[in-house]
Amino acid sequence: MGVLALQGDVEEHRTALTRAGAEVRSVRTPGDLEGLEGLVLPGGESTAIGRMMERAGLLEPLRARAAAGTLALFGTCAGMILLAREVLGGAPPRLGVLDVTVERNAYGRQVDSFEVDLPVPALGEAPVRAVFIRAPVVRAVGPGVEVLATWRGHPVLVRQGRHLASAFHPELVDDLRLVRHFLTLATRAG
Ligand code: GLN
Repeated sequence: MGVLALQGDVEEHRTALTRAGAEVRSVRTPGDLEGLEGLVLPGGESTAIGRMMERAGLLEPLRARAAAGTLALFGTCAGMILLAREVLGGAPPRLGVLDVTVERNAYGRQVDSFEVDLPVPALGEAPVRAVFIRAPVVRAVGPGVEVLATWRGHPVLVRQGRHLASAFHPELVDDLRLVRHFLTLATRAG
């Protein structure tokens, strides 16, 4: 598994994936993608990360591998923005492989950051502790997108094929169920 290591909470994702039993590599160049089954795009600042991805020449190879179905992607928070087809509120350079429209920083100033116990039926009965930090709001999802969890009427965890995106930060809690869910998507055949 790779973690896009240009900016943001890279170490937390490396730790969570390692704890979930994955072999982990930091990704900074197209060469780092070789042999990877999955890549996590961490939270951070999506404009900064998107510009660095562009400069590093990572956008095209990642789009190609995502389209060919040979690489599973998991975008968390800023990473979700980098996967989104449409972005409102300052669109950064990005992959655009996930058929969703997101609006950056749209939960509002008063609730910049918050934590909730989020029911995620696909992960079992116990809710997931979801940490939101200046999170994007998902405004629309395309027909091929499965909504795995919603909060206050907005999707906050979605899946399209082998790609996963969350508006919250699964790497900041001890619960590894969501990280394991991604590993299952990334390592299953086809
Ligand atoms: N607000 C950030 C952005 O728009 C994302 C925040 C995060 O990743 N925690 O890029």
